[in-house]
Amino acid sequence: MQFKEVVGQKDTKQLLLKMAGENRIPHAMLFMGNTGSGTLPLAIAFAQLINCENAATDDSCGTCHSCRMYAKLTHPDLHFALPVNTIDDIKKPKTDDFIEQWRTACLKNPYLSLQDWYDTIGIEKKQGIIATEESTAIVHKLYLKSFEGKHKVLIMWHADRMNSATSNKLLKIIEEPPGNTVFILITERYDGILPTILSRTQLIKIPIIDNDSLIKYACENYNLDINKARNMVHLSGNDLTELQALMSQENLSGQMELSFIEWMRMCYKFGINYKGLYSWIEDISKLSRDAQKNFLNFSLGTVRECLITNMSGINHSRYTDATFNGFEKFSKMINAENIEPFAKTLEEAIYHIERNANPKILFLDLSFRMHRILHMKF
Ligand SMILES: [Zn+2]
Repeated sequence: MQFKEVVGQKDTKQLLLKMAGENRIPHAMLFMGNTGSGTLPLAIAFAQLINCENAATDDSCGTCHSCRMYAKLTHPDLHFALPVNTIDDIKKPKTDDFIEQWRTACLKNPYLSLQDWYDTIGIEKKQGIIATEESTAIVHKLYLKSFEGKHKVLIMWHADRMNSATSNKLLKIIEEPPGNTVFILITERYDGILPTILSRTQLIKIPIIDNDSLIKYACENYNLDINKARNMVHLSGNDLTELQALMSQENLSGQMELSFIEWMRMCYKFGINYKGLYSWIEDISKLSRDAQKNFLNFSLGTVRECLITNMSGINHSRYTDATFNGFEKFSKMINAENIEPFAKTLEEAIYHIERNANPKILFLDLSFRMHRILHMKF
């Protein structure tokens, strides 16, 4: 990973480039900042820079032997320490047990959240820790394993997940690491690190990403217009990880909007387009029960929203321009008389989905009821 791949952080990059350029690289650093500010990609880009065989003044070269291994996170002198936990037959977990999953996840998204990581390794409901097995492995790697590059680097992600036994075991090696070894501890919580560790590291505060850089990122990566991008960046608190989460929710609700419109069209014509409706029901039946419930809740919200739009106009609704046309027609069918049967029917369906009703039968029955409500005469 090169500095140019890290979003924003001009000043931090300058500071790190200066350290590398003047060969004043601390043997232990603490990157403190939000995950969504880019603490991890900055640490990797810095490690790549100080190992690059042909670094320029503003970045690593990206093409030398060392950079090519760094690009895959497989450089033999690059080590990670990550929060992990027991799973299946791994009773004394340490980073090396999960290193392939880490490389894949980190390369896919270096701004990943701790929860993304827990989901990746399947410990969703447990907290990850950096336990004493890890400190033993770290000592082994840093003292015993041979060098290939210029610097051995150990990046400890979410260092506040170290327990005190691990911290204490690492004190000595952090204070006096073997030559050309660099520790980069990363944390969001300064108070989560033992004072004895803090006093042995050089603190690098990583600020939030500046507006312009993150808005540019949002426009390019999510195809947003500038106003929407500005709004989303603001909502995220200038946090790239949070922005990703917000955008995936947006995406999901966009997909649900389209699916809802399609469904309502077929319900309206129930009996004319059986084939389309059956295939729609097949698809939704394959989703998890939670996803089916989310869709029904979304439908309930949408029907209510349609009533508001119908009675007070589009300015009062939350519709996006892209789906407005689809809803405009539908919202005209929702009125003060049929809103109640609509809501009641959907609420009943949610009740039954929660109690393990067969989704195919439920959605078929529901579609027929929707058809009847859409054709109610007043
Ligand atoms: Zn290079």
